[in-house]
Amino acid sequence: MNVSVVLFTADLRVHDHPPLRAALAGARHVVPLFVRDRAVDAAGFAAPNRLAFLSDCLHDLDAELRHRGGRLIVRSGDLVERVCAVAREADADEVHMAADVSGFAHRREERLRRALETDGRRLHVHDTVTTAVTPGALTPSASDHFAVFTPYFRQWSRQRLRAPLGAPRTVRVPDGIASEELPSRPAAADLSAGLVPGGETEGRKRLAAWLGSGVGAYEERHDDLAGDATSRLSPHLHFGTLSPVELVHRARGASGPGAGAFVRQLAWRDFHRQVLAVRPASASADYRTHDRRRSERAAREDVEAWREGRTGYPIVDAAMRQLLHEGWMHNRGRLLTASFLTKTLYVDWRVGARHFLRYLVDGDLANNQLNWQWMAGTGTDTRPNRVLNPVTQAKRYDPDGTYVRRWVPELAGLDGPAVHEPWKLRGPARDALDYPDPVVELSEGLARFKRARGRD
Ligand code: FAD
Repeated sequence: MNVSVVLFTADLRVHDHPPLRAALAGARHVVPLFVRDRAVDAAGFAAPNRLAFLSDCLHDLDAELRHRGGRLIVRSGDLVERVCAVAREADADEVHMAADVSGFAHRREERLRRALETDGRRLHVHDTVTTAVTPGALTPSASDHFAVFTPYFRQWSRQRLRAPLGAPRTVRVPDGIASEELPSRPAAADLSAGLVPGGETEGRKRLAAWLGSGVGAYEERHDDLAGDATSRLSPHLHFGTLSPVELVHRARGASGPGAGAFVRQLAWRDFHRQVLAVRPASASADYRTHDRRRSERAAREDVEAWREGRTGYPIVDAAMRQLLHEGWMHNRGRLLTASFLTKTLYVDWRVGARHFLRYLVDGDLANNQLNWQWMAGTGTDTRPNRVLNPVTQAKRYDPDGTYVRRWVPELAGLDGPAVHEPWKLRGPARDALDYPDPVVELSEGLARFKRARGRD
């Protein structure tokens, strides 16, 4: 066989890339192709922060391919049409790509398979490129997926993962295949000011640093909001600049008690993917159907205050401002801001999920929607009525208030944990503070939640 196409999607790397390696093993020439899919843009997933990260990833991928004698071909439009056109131009026999989990990805893959077959070409879809364990490979006896994490994790941990693949030495691309310009970053004014750069080179640097000095303390420090002691590898996992299989192997080889706790988080990522793969509607519909009584709606201004970080609850506001500034938020912040929106303000989880997807550089359909559902009590949480009290959370995970003072400068003058309850200040100190009163009393919010759930 002479030519194969490798279609890159959420796997923008050259290390541990089964489709690329399979294509190179079977053909003398390969066409590394990325299609900027019009349908993805139309569905609203093309948020500026992620477009900037994507642009970095594509430039880096092109550079990595050029080091090996190749280059990246970029086209835009309808993905199926564009792939078929490139396969025809290159007279390719096969197209290789990674499996993905959303309903959209499944439909697109089927359309592509049929269109290629009509032209006499074959589509090869590779597992364990965007997940460590294939969605659907593990199932309980009575269902097509695991709905509870702990038993899933038990089985996941016993799986033998394939060995990671090295990057290829040479990539030969046939002459005469035209490429559009690589997409550039959106204007800086449209981006979060503290956005991190993307690309596989950057991801591998971060991974090496993390395994060298971060992961060991992960277990005791991952919830420390001010300490910022998590890996921050999520955008690299979302865009596939790092391979989950390689990550699990390398983390298991790292020393210190934190490695096991870190690997467990990677299993959460696979867990949500195996849910979405068989319940594609859970990207927008409640996974469990018992919570249909959203009888009360928060005022529009309260939702706006949540989005902008002006709820009057400093820990909530700090986390929401971190999201706006960095396009990323600490996991503990995501948990407590999601609880606040869905259980204290009693707002539909989709409102929050949409806002997160607008800014998160790691904004990911499976992880975002299903974590939102988990926190809203409509998803896989076995304790769907748990409510995170923002003051208790603040005192536990930001005990001296450093995180709040970092993100809410209006409160920078308040020392220690007093920063978490500015409403307790009296007299001139309170009058001098340019910071809003809480949008809701916590007890009132809780009562509203219980009423709506019919629990009081
Ligand atoms: P680490 O703590 O270093 O964890 C390592 C990796 O494990 C992460 O990069 C991620 O890939 C995976 N992981 C960690 N926690 C989870 C989890 N709860 N569920 C699934 N995978 C996990 N993660 C996203 O990648 N994209 C999202 O859009 C997203 N939205 C979220 C929305 C809400 C409401 C909540 C509560 C969580 C969300 N998460 C999302 C999960 C988690 O918050 C982030 O993965 C994590 O904060 C990323 O930081 P990190 O890479 O430093 O994580």
